[in-house]
Amino acid sequence: MFLKPTYSSPGDLTTLDIEQLCSDGIKGLILDLDSTLMEPKSGKITPQVEAWLAGARGRLKMVVLTNNHRPSYIENASKVLNMEVIGHAAKPWRRGFREALQILQLPPDAVAVVGDRPLTDIWGGVLSDMRTVLVRPLSTIVEPSIKTFCRNLEHVFIRK
Ligand SMILES: [Mg+2]
Repeated sequence: MFLKPTYSSPGDLTTLDIEQLCSDGIKGLILDLDSTLMEPKSGKITPQVEAWLAGARGRLKMVVLTNNHRPSYIENASKVLNMEVIGHAAKPWRRGFREALQILQLPPDAVAVVGDRPLTDIWGGVLSDMRTVLVRPLSTIVEPSIKTFCRNLEHVFIRK
């Protein structure tokens, strides 16, 4: 099984061109949380992510979808990001994505799924008939080498 993201960003979320997405008819984003918006377990966002979000707000409707299931973690993320965060999403399965579309009040063809993991974020977006954006993990993250190894392994499933 091969996955092909609609867009593949050479950098992290903050390098994503909001204008480009808008001109391609994207009206909403379903954003992954860990490593895409926030360094895992950090509980805060960087000024770069803050600035990118500020540029995206008003142009795009946004909701966060994460497989994390800790209520306190999700509640904090929602507060920090000032956005609705759906936890326990069981990506790539469709339930969480359906819930996210309900919140956005948009049809699947007007929404892009943005995330750093091919087998959860990208596959999930594909299964739910949405466009997908594969981003690199936040450039500020120094991840353990085993995680980098797993990530690179997942990229084997991608056809660019
Ligand atoms: Mg992630």
